[in-house]
Amino acid sequence: MKRYSAFAIAREALRGHTGWDRAWARAEPKAAYDVIIVGAGGHGLATAYYLGRNHGIRNVAILEKGWLGGGNTGRNTTIIRSNYLQDPSAAIYEKSRSLYETLSQELNYNVMFSPRGVMMLAQTHHEVRGYQRTAHANALQGVATEFIAPAKVKELCPIINIDGPRYPVLGALWQPRGGTARHDAVAWGYARACSDMGMHVLQKTEVTGVRSENGQVTGVETNRGFIGCGKLGIVVAGHSGVLADMAGFRLPIESVALQALVSEPIKPCMDVVVMANTVHGYMSQSDKGEMVIGGGADGYNNYTQRGSFHHIEETVRALIETFPMISRLKMLRQWGGIVDMTGDRSPIISKTPLGGCFINCGWGTGGFKAIPGSGWAMAELMVKGASPLADDFSLGRFREGRFIDESVAAGVAH
Ligand SMILES: Cc1cc2nc3c(=O)[nH]c(=O)nc-3n(C[C@H](O)[C@H](O)[C@H](O)COP(=O)(O)OP(=O)(O)OC[C@H]3O[C@@H](n4cnc5c(N)ncnc54)[C@H](O)[C@@H]3O)c2cc1C
Repeated sequence: MKRYSAFAIAREALRGHTGWDRAWARAEPKAAYDVIIVGAGGHGLATAYYLGRNHGIRNVAILEKGWLGGGNTGRNTTIIRSNYLQDPSAAIYEKSRSLYETLSQELNYNVMFSPRGVMMLAQTHHEVRGYQRTAHANALQGVATEFIAPAKVKELCPIINIDGPRYPVLGALWQPRGGTARHDAVAWGYARACSDMGMHVLQKTEVTGVRSENGQVTGVETNRGFIGCGKLGIVVAGHSGVLADMAGFRLPIESVALQALVSEPIKPCMDVVVMANTVHGYMSQSDKGEMVIGGGADGYNNYTQRGSFHHIEETVRALIETFPMISRLKMLRQWGGIVDMTGDRSPIISKTPLGGCFINCGWGTGGFKAIPGSGWAMAELMVKGASPLADDFSLGRFREGRFIDESVAAGVAH
């Protein structure tokens, strides 16, 4: 693979851009692979990448029923942070955030990581106490956050109205190295690196069944025929329950739509990410100038990957007291993705009852930020049978009552 560089751009500019390689090869499925990953979202691709990079396993196929990154990875609002309360969560999210810091250099692909700072507003006294507790927990976990006063909130984000009549801003949990990245680029960067290692990224390849013998996985049925494998990783977010059913086990997962919308592009007015969990909304400004706005998940289970009118009104109404300027913005477009929610709002990275079959899901409304760390942990689990980052997130915790309750950190916000 030819590396991307300033020199390469200059060279190609001079010869009419005729010398670029395909970013990832268009492969035909082989009869069998050592490992098959189902789902070419960020988590599936990152798993494959770290299987190759960290463990030297390269006879790998990533099967995707649609197009690469066309699931939640290409539909999210790209917030990256690691200010979670519980130790296992802080460990995996901070590992992930720190990998994001150098991901562009590592993949030789600009994922546009922008550590512009993330603040979670405290708009009730209960939230003040909750976020102060998280700031203390983060200090012990080595995650750099602080609880800041309203005046500092206003200084960092001048368009916020901190004196709202219903929900004045009483402070915020501030993570200065949180931020955003370009979601498609994360999927594309990992896919390119996987392809460069000789792995097959097979788009339009839908898994329709899982085959096993004597309790051990042997391969998958697809719309392109049977493909054998030694190990199988299921990484399909909102469709995890469907795939688990094919593999013969059940998951404690609910699938619901989560929606977001963007405004018309405007001049730069906000260079931090703000989440307002009491009123149920969050906002940042994209590099194109659009205000990126999200709210809560739909209140009923569904597989509908699209937006709905009432959501625009509910989310914008929630944010308008805190951001009065959005009352004058035109909304440009909205969309939805199917997110996979667990009861304790923490992910599942686990072995399954089927031998050789592993599952990575349950990232719900907040898994974009976790892509590198999750892939790292899942790859280690698939190779070694255990991973320090993943062990607390096993399926067994639901049987044994070892919940990792992140409903405050993850229930609304991303
Ligand atoms: C509107 C919205 C906003 C969000 N905002 C944020 C945010 O700001 N920050 C954050 O951290 N997270 C956010 N998230 C959550 C985040 O997007 C997800 O947690 C994350 O992208 C999940 O990645 P994934 O790789 O697990 O799943 P996906 O990207 O959904 O990939 C799974 C893939 O599996 C494929 N698949 C399914 N079934 C099959 C099959 N049978 N055969 C083959 N392939 C199959 C799908 O087509 C899909 O491409 C948001 C999500 C949404 C919807």
